[in-house]
Amino acid sequence: MPSTLLAKPNINYLLSSTAMALCSAFCPRISANFRPKPFSSSPSKPLLSLSFKVFSSQATDASSQDKFSGRVGFLGLGIMGSPMAQNLIKAGCDVIVWNRTKSKCDPLISLGAKYRSSPEEVAANCDVTFAMLADPESAIDVACGKNGAVRGMGPGKGYIDISTVDVATSKLINEHIKARGALFLEAPVSGSKKPAEDGQLIFLTAGDRSLYELVSPLLDILGKSRFYLGEVGNGAAMKLVVNMIMGSMMASFSEGILLSKKVGLDPSVLVEVVSQGAISAPMYSLKGPSMVKSQYPTAFPLKHQQKDLRLALGLAESVSQSTPIAAAANELYKVAKSYGLSDEDFSAVIEALKAKSQDTA
Ligand code: NAP
Repeated sequence: MPSTLLAKPNINYLLSSTAMALCSAFCPRISANFRPKPFSSSPSKPLLSLSFKVFSSQATDASSQDKFSGRVGFLGLGIMGSPMAQNLIKAGCDVIVWNRTKSKCDPLISLGAKYRSSPEEVAANCDVTFAMLADPESAIDVACGKNGAVRGMGPGKGYIDISTVDVATSKLINEHIKARGALFLEAPVSGSKKPAEDGQLIFLTAGDRSLYELVSPLLDILGKSRFYLGEVGNGAAMKLVVNMIMGSMMASFSEGILLSKKVGLDPSVLVEVVSQGAISAPMYSLKGPSMVKSQYPTAFPLKHQQKDLRLALGLAESVSQSTPIAAAANELYKVAKSYGLSDEDFSAVIEALKAKSQDTA
């Protein structure tokens, strides 16, 4: 499978002059309050060297990026969509927003965004339109439904779906967009609320290469790296595999925290030990301390993690791949949902295990 990785250099001094110059060329107007992006606190040496390795690729790619000067639509202003749209506005892009619940548009309008009352109107008035919706159903509805974005698409326009959906959904939206003579790119993101705020997302793109190149300047405002993975469906599949691993990791981590406590250990010390060893992951250091305190401030809603596991299991089923760990984890997230934890952070899955322990005690 052909793939291309392009990543931002993960050090301030490289960004300060070079990337600012590149960004100036990519965006139609740069507001005075645009600042170089803050950098993630978690990165490590391997990330640093990776970033160096790909920096020249990004610079080479930049020539095609100079051509983008259009208006940007943004559909779906939830936990992820709002900060992403905000970053585009702050970088000086001309942005039109729409959200099912209109009140979520207001803070962006006050930052300079325009508003249109349907996805169709946004797409009709924009050169490229991003969509960040909850799930396959809403992604299809917003694209292909009544007053959907597809109706506003046409030759010369592009639609970029950054929602996490399954392969079939992405292909279906692609077909509808193509039928209007427009271009389609799927670009689900790895990263959560904070990386979205900090412009540090990872894009997993696939579809029309020309659209990928056209919107690369925008992806670089929103993210720290981008992969081009070829045919539509490959981005969706990559995202589901990543989140399948993540869901299982969190379920296992939850078991560890509860077991440590039950045998008389301090779970905070466990989190510290894990953070220093070979199984260290930013996710454990980030979520562990609050999980120990039974607090789950929502960055990635549990209902979306369960959706991703469900879709990943479907993907595995489609190729007869055995995924018993993910299947077990999925059951735990379903239990957590049945306890009313859908809108909590996905780390609240630990509550399902606590309840289980009480049941069997
Ligand atoms: P969210 O806060 O739940 O926002 C979901 C968005 O979808 C909202 O704008 C919501 O509109 C809209 N929506 C839901 N159902 C709709 C419908 N039937 N018609 C029209 N709009 C509808 O979710 P999020 O955390 O931003 O995540 C968005 C997507 O990114 C999901 O696919 C998720 O899996 C993925 N993702 C999330 C994270 C994360 O950490 N949060 C990270 C990576 C990827 P309303 O405001 O009207 O409800």
